[in-house]
Amino acid sequence: KPKVAFLGLGAMGYPMACNLQRAGFPTLVWNRTAKKAEEHASACGTTAASLEAAAMADVIFSCLPTSAEVAELVARMRPHLHSGSVWVDCTSGDPEASRRIARDLSELGVAFLDAPVSGGTTGAEEGTLTVMVGGSEETFERVRPVLEAVGRKIVHVGPVGAGHALKAVNNTLLAVNLWAAGEGLAALVKQGVDPRVALAVINASSGRSNATENLIPERVVTRAWPNTFKLGLLTKDVGIGMKVLDGADLPAPVLRLTYEVYQMAKREIGPDADHAEALKLIERWAGTEIS
Ligand code: NDP
Repeated sequence: KPKVAFLGLGAMGYPMACNLQRAGFPTLVWNRTAKKAEEHASACGTTAASLEAAAMADVIFSCLPTSAEVAELVARMRPHLHSGSVWVDCTSGDPEASRRIARDLSELGVAFLDAPVSGGTTGAEEGTLTVMVGGSEETFERVRPVLEAVGRKIVHVGPVGAGHALKAVNNTLLAVNLWAAGEGLAALVKQGVDPRVALAVINASSGRSNATENLIPERVVTRAWPNTFKLGLLTKDVGIGMKVLDGADLPAPVLRLTYEVYQMAKREIGPDADHAEALKLIERWAGTEIS
């Protein structure tokens, strides 16, 4: 079995690295805050490692906030990387930055796949993520058995950068649906409709989405507000979506307005709040709770 390394034990990386070890891949883990890697080693049976040791692995995973941190680690590990290995970046990253990273790594004989994931922390814990992979078909096929430890639906979507482009569009749609449902529900509450009743009807009708089926009932209506995916990260994804649109020569007013809306929400609510907390801004404007 290939030796695996995992860089970045955040909300997503921590459970993903655990599942790799559990599937029988000996997994080295590295995290900026080293204590978390030591905790991971004792909780999941992985091995806490230096960046230099991690660079020796056959398959190197990264799951970091943005492509900037990925590029930084590639630069630090560059002297220790070896030809024939594969770098699999599960960050929700930037297609253009990934193409630059891939070119840089190819000089060392290291292949690169952008492999962002969807399914949230629950999907990461259960190993049921959707993985959208950009890169060469041959590298994809080589790494697929390893990806099966973290994901259920694993799809090769195009050349390097295609995975990140698709992820950015997906998350822009998540952002649209979440915000739009928040506006609609706040208006219904003001009409005297119980949001639980409204959601039950919408979810048996054509306006439903992941936001109405899961996010709003579980996080907003309950006032539970679990923090699993930061508003700052979702806003970053919508920003990458804007770059994807820039390359498309296409008027896209709804998606572009969504970026403005989330920048405003991030500013008012804070980047470290959960993404669903964006709806607190709508509640503030409406003077009512969606509950
Ligand atoms: P977290 O904020 O929970 O974790 C971020 C990780 O990156 C931590 O391990 C952190 O280390 C590390 N890190 C931050 N800055 C640096 C740096 N400068 N150098 C090295 N390491 C750094 O993020 P998530 O796990 O939620 O997200 C990771 C990626 O996955 C993002 O691109 C996000 O958009 C995406 N994603 C998130 C989902 C979610 O539901 N949370 C779902 C799907 C994708 P430290 O512990 O030291 O802070």
